[in-house]
Amino acid sequence: MRVLIVEDEPNLGRQLRATLEGAGYAVDLATDGEDGHYLGSTETYDAIILDLGLPEIDGLTVLDRWRKDGMAVPVLVLTARDSWSDKVAGLDAGADDYLAKPFQTEELIARLRALIRRASGNSSSELIAGDVRLDTRSGKVTLNGEPVKLTAQEYKLLSYLMHHKGKVVSRTELIEHIYDQDFDRDSNTIEVFVTRIRKKLGPDVITTIRGLGYSLEDPAA
Ligand code: CA
Repeated sequence: MRVLIVEDEPNLGRQLRATLEGAGYAVDLATDGEDGHYLGSTETYDAIILDLGLPEIDGLTVLDRWRKDGMAVPVLVLTARDSWSDKVAGLDAGADDYLAKPFQTEELIARLRALIRRASGNSSSELIAGDVRLDTRSGKVTLNGEPVKLTAQEYKLLSYLMHHKGKVVSRTELIEHIYDQDFDRDSNTIEVFVTRIRKKLGPDVITTIRGLGYSLEDPAA
């Protein structure tokens, strides 16, 4: 899962990026509205955290432009403390959720998880595919109840496929959603990660759809 943070306070931006990366997200950070609008419009994200008070272009205008362009990505806006008019304006402009500053990082992450889950049609924070369970709260993966240790990249890939269980996901889509902008992207590494995940979780957990990509089969389908 890949997230864009648009935040002009350098310390807060860096801290959020580090926290979200630690929680298993690929993260891009923009520090003004113009850069944020550009990244949001040209890159692919599973959710965006958007501060409203931004230099160059303010957050509400950025959000309004995205929505007018038909972008459906979930957006959580950060508002000034106790500014109910900011919250109303944010929701009216197409925000999916808001959080007033200052906030607890844990709450931000929980809201972000919920937004991403809902956007991909998952109601539970525990994702299940056959004997594999992925707990999006703890970032832990189990096979038949036994914990399995995955690397950060393996987790990102599995998490994306589990959020989109039953759908065919192309290599390009995986690359867009598990790497941040600065990462040296190589589509061959996707195959390597898939091979490693199969070694850890069993050969049948991820199905290769020749010429199209990968799929986690939905046992209920
Ligand atoms: Ca600000």
